[in-house]
Amino acid sequence: MVLGIRMIDSTIAYIFSEWWLTFTFTFLFFTALYFGGILLLQTLLSILKKKDILHSIVDFKKPGQERVEIKNSMVSILIFALQAIPLQILYQNGYVQFGQHGGLNLLWEIPVLFLWNEIYFYTSHWLLHQKWFFMNVHHVHHASREPTLYSVYSFHWFEAFLLGAVIFLPILVYPFHIISVLSLPIMSIALNFLGHWNHETETTKNPDYLGRFTFRHTMHHKWSKGNFGFMLPYLDMLFNTATPKKKMK
Ligand SMILES: [Zn+2]
Ligand SMILES: [Zn+2]
Repeated sequence: MVLGIRMIDSTIAYIFSEWWLTFTFTFLFFTALYFGGILLLQTLLSILKKKDILHSIVDFKKPGQERVEIKNSMVSILIFALQAIPLQILYQNGYVQFGQHGGLNLLWEIPVLFLWNEIYFYTSHWLLHQKWFFMNVHHVHHASREPTLYSVYSFHWFEAFLLGAVIFLPILVYPFHIISVLSLPIMSIALNFLGHWNHETETTKNPDYLGRFTFRHTMHHKWSKGNFGFMLPYLDMLFNTATPKKKMK
């Protein structure tokens, strides 16, 4: 365990030693998460559909949609990799440090980053739905009226920049362990895949039930109105921004 953590520390020190190493690592990391995740979830989806456990929610897929989503996602991944360069500079100049205490610290650091991601995403997403931002930026993501696994990073470059900046504030105020920092994009893309895979189990549960986040985000794509939250329904409930009940079908 100690040896494993030491190996992670020395790898991170190497990756952060040069800006182009940080850039290349980040680009490959997000590319692997994107295509690896799609492959994994597509396999899981076809098994669960065969067993009749999952059914599709909406049916609006356009011809060639996934090709456009992949192209947009590659641009987003390039933006994420470019954002890692200022992070490397901050690290080299001592403004950002990674904590040395893994183990038990991860048990609270990871949930804190999860909650921060919920708040940051809700706020950014609300902003992206204000008229100017929607017309000029967020319409790219909403071109996928039926969300797919490929939609997860299908953004305008500015949206990729805004959402990719989620990590800067936490790491500037506290030295999170690198495992916690890396857990944020992993958690985020895993939930994002489930939010965009357009399938759920047969259920009679209310749309604001915690586990129905796939349904909530699918309705968000269908109507382009309300449901700004990421996974949790609580911020939409608190600020009264949930998609109107009559449109939740
Ligand atoms: Zn979406
Ligand atoms: Zn939206």
